[in-house]
Amino acid sequence: MGSSARNSSPPRVGFVSLGCPKALVDAEQIITQVRAEGYDIVAQYGDADVVVVNTCGFIESAIDESLDAIGEALDENGRVIVTGCLGAQELRIRERYPEVLAITGPHDKAGVMQALHAHLPPRHDPFTSLIPPQGLKLTPAHYAYLKISEGCNHRCTFCIIPSLRGDLVSRPVGEVLQEAEHLVNAGVKELLVISQDTSAYGVDLRYRTGFWQGRPVRTRLTELAQALGKMGAWVRLHYVYPYPHVDELIPLMADGVLLPYLDVPLQHASPRLLRAMKRPGDVEKTLERIHSWRRICPDLTLRSTFIAGFPGETEQDFEELLQFLTAAELDRVGCFAYSPVEGASANALPDALPESLRHERQERLMRHQESISAGRLHRFVGQVRQVLVDELTEEGGAIGRSSADAPDIDGVVTIAPAPDLKVGQFLSVHIDAADAHDLSGHRVMG
Ligand code: SF4
Repeated sequence: MGSSARNSSPPRVGFVSLGCPKALVDAEQIITQVRAEGYDIVAQYGDADVVVVNTCGFIESAIDESLDAIGEALDENGRVIVTGCLGAQELRIRERYPEVLAITGPHDKAGVMQALHAHLPPRHDPFTSLIPPQGLKLTPAHYAYLKISEGCNHRCTFCIIPSLRGDLVSRPVGEVLQEAEHLVNAGVKELLVISQDTSAYGVDLRYRTGFWQGRPVRTRLTELAQALGKMGAWVRLHYVYPYPHVDELIPLMADGVLLPYLDVPLQHASPRLLRAMKRPGDVEKTLERIHSWRRICPDLTLRSTFIAGFPGETEQDFEELLQFLTAAELDRVGCFAYSPVEGASANALPDALPESLRHERQERLMRHQESISAGRLHRFVGQVRQVLVDELTEEGGAIGRSSADAPDIDGVVTIAPAPDLKVGQFLSVHIDAADAHDLSGHRVMG
């Protein structure tokens, strides 16, 4: 379609966002700026003057999905700006869609705005400049992702994130805390801390001291977590690489400063394969630390992700992984079948496994884990848990989450019908039943 048919109305931008929570935060920052400059955000392709597609480039299936989304936006609208992780592979996009207006890489709000100004100039309207201080969010009003850094200093052989997003750049601690305070003041009840590598926060700044409300705070995860924990919202940590100083966070969880939840992507448990992945390889030590974390904080929920079928993985390596899962008794586990990503150094490793075997091992791992997860979840039956309500059901009940459940990736707590349930409310729920992923219960007072 051509430029805006309604010359008196603000220019209108459509937005399609794919990918992980980190990409979602990029999208939120872009739409906040887009609204701040007086553009309207519209939900239908046909209503937009330009469509921005925020892409993902993590694995081949995500790349295909992103390319399809660009194609759909071109078919339905015709004027498309591409941004996000796949944007770093401009040639690949141009080969298939030479007609896209502009392509920018990940975390490039300035690049998107430049392209937008060139293809759809803004109109100044003071009323549309009234953006709330916490920015515009794509998540429900009661929880929000808080991105604390960009990029990564590791070089895991299966991952191209560092070549797409660069080395670690931490946000100043005062800025992160300011954003968190705006979010909590705007009604956010749960802050989900994310980055590529959350435990590395501040390494690039040599943990320098910043300021928050006139007091010094070090740019370091423990100190950041302590300050966030005083804001009166749930604080949940994601993508925590297993550095030794992660141990410092567990007492904060035991004391209720942070949610007793840790998302630690371990990827494998065969030392040989971990070395091939360029990940920390001391599996015995990891297991010891998990046991000591649980001694300090028995309520801890541990989530991890693994890769099955990495190049060179033997049946024995895979068995070691299953034995680790039995010994570690992780609460929540995700597993990807290894997928070669263009540009990843793991593609050059010998002994690649056939796709069917990679998928077979992924399924075996998930079957193996199912009874472990179910056993862990059953310990909650008979307890009263604090639950944050996400949505109401037609029957008069609600769907919520406890400390053990991050939105979208973990389970839920189904709450039986009760009067006066509200989205974003904390409830005490007696847990009546559990399956492998979800809990159900009824509201109690207290
Ligand atoms: S730590 Fe995560 S983001 Fe960094 S290279 Fe490894 S997998 Fe990629």
